[in-house]
Amino acid sequence: MRQTKHRQTILDLLDQSHHALSAAQIHAALPEINLVTIYRNLEDFVKTGALTKLHFGKQEAVYEKQTAPHHHAICNDCDKVIHFTLDDQKLKKEFSLPGFDIKDIEITVRGKCLKKHQLRTKVK
Ligand SMILES: [Zn+2]
Ligand SMILES: [Zn+2]
Repeated sequence: MRQTKHRQTILDLLDQSHHALSAAQIHAALPEINLVTIYRNLEDFVKTGALTKLHFGKQEAVYEKQTAPHHHAICNDCDKVIHFTLDDQKLKKEFSLPGFDIKDIEITVRGKCLKKHQLRTKVK
């Protein structure tokens, strides 16, 4: 079935990319699949838990393949996203809230790359 094939193609792309992609980026890589179909599939994957949807400020939402739970650091200048893991068991203890059972912790930190931004040309 064609629909199923598209689903797999989208998942494969996210699998290979090793970083989160927006629907527009997926569409650019897979122009044969129309954008509406891509959006619909992405939302389905989010519902089933195959993908995680991430919203970082003003950026378009990006989707990443759910591997292990992890956290994100975002550069305020270039919107680069770094994926990192922490000792979540330890975190859960640190964050303990009275009368609240923490299931998952997802941290988003913001800062600046220490290396020069290569993708950006500064206009003076
Ligand atoms: Zn940066
Ligand atoms: Zn991530």
